[in-house]
Amino acid sequence: MKIAIPVERRAHERRVAATPDTVKKFIAMGIEVAVERGAGEASRIPDAAYQAAGATIVDSPAALLADADVVLKVQRPILAGEEGENELSLFKPGTLLIAILSPYANPDALRQYAEAGITAISLEFVPRITRAQSMDVLSSQSNLAGYRAVLEAVNVFDRAMPMMMTAAGTIAPARVMVLGAGVAGLQAIATAKRLGAIVSATDVRAASREQVESLGGKFVMVESDEVANAETAGGYAREMSDDYKRRQAELVAETLKKQDIAICTALIPGRKAPTLINDEMVYSMRPGSVIVDLAAEQGGNCTLTRPGEVVEINGVSIIGYYNVPSRLSADASALYAKNVLNYFTPLFNAETRQLAVNWQDEIVAASTLTRDGQIVHPNFQS
Ligand code: NAD
Repeated sequence: MKIAIPVERRAHERRVAATPDTVKKFIAMGIEVAVERGAGEASRIPDAAYQAAGATIVDSPAALLADADVVLKVQRPILAGEEGENELSLFKPGTLLIAILSPYANPDALRQYAEAGITAISLEFVPRITRAQSMDVLSSQSNLAGYRAVLEAVNVFDRAMPMMMTAAGTIAPARVMVLGAGVAGLQAIATAKRLGAIVSATDVRAASREQVESLGGKFVMVESDEVANAETAGGYAREMSDDYKRRQAELVAETLKKQDIAICTALIPGRKAPTLINDEMVYSMRPGSVIVDLAAEQGGNCTLTRPGEVVEINGVSIIGYYNVPSRLSADASALYAKNVLNYFTPLFNAETRQLAVNWQDEIVAASTLTRDGQIVHPNFQS
């Protein structure tokens, strides 16, 4: 059995799906591992480190993928009709592909996986249950993104974060508001607190109040009966009513004008990110304020975010970087690779040294998109 680790070819992607540490574990299971030359470079992993762990280094994607039984990736392969060499066409039928496949944003890709006979597993669909915590790529990557978002803000903020009492005068602490208190938001709160800021946060899920407060943040939220139904069974947020949105906009507008930094992390799975900061609110902020919009790729929480760019509007910097976990590629790859190893291990029978997947398993069933030439995921049946 052979596992292949290709170079990630999509723009802004610096991560890799395996590290020398996880390669060693696969090899100890009796699996052959091939790594494309340079796959770990952007995560500071030289080819020699993969080789020392027991992997073979392969020069081209065609040679890598031709006889691979399992392909571990971060992002989806380049598909027909996209810029660059069609990677999917290099997979042999029956290959098991494990990656973050973003199927909502790319529904046509599912048809292509099915037609190519690929078994496609999308790790962002792993359910948020206790048994799957060690496989949870959304958590491992969002946690790093939340941390990095605060550092990105601090980097362009021309004031200090903590209160400083000096002989030359006192510097007031910065005020940070975090919009969306999920995994990224909670890490942003913790990071901003550690730097000495005064932190407030908002969310539509009432359960997040306790988590925000336990980190020393002030929780601000629209009080409404709707909040009782704001959380899905999977723990995610729902889209709120127009009335709720109006009241939330008033609350955010009131809070935001007293803030120096806003960290936006609010997402609704499968939908455009909710708009929480409109043009008027940006104009109400003090010059020198900073907004970091981690939702930029999903349409942004701020109306003035330009995805992939840093813009300054009326003295307010708005940071809309793509793929923020990739900006910490070494740590992001290490955690991602561990998640992938933990997902893969129960799919493999160490005695027969073959895949032995239980397709009925809750975690596997929730994350399998295509199998045996069919789209099998319930969310994508036409
Ligand atoms: P996410 O990335 O989907 O969204 C980020 C946050 O934005 C969420 O807290 C969400 O409620 C919030 N949000 C959405 N719309 C909003 C709006 N209009 N205004 C304000 N906030 C809004 O969420 P996530 O970080 O992936 O976390 C989702 C859930 O999963 C949470 O309940 C989290 O506690 C849970 N979780 C569970 C586990 C586990 O048990 N294994 C692991 C990680 C996360």
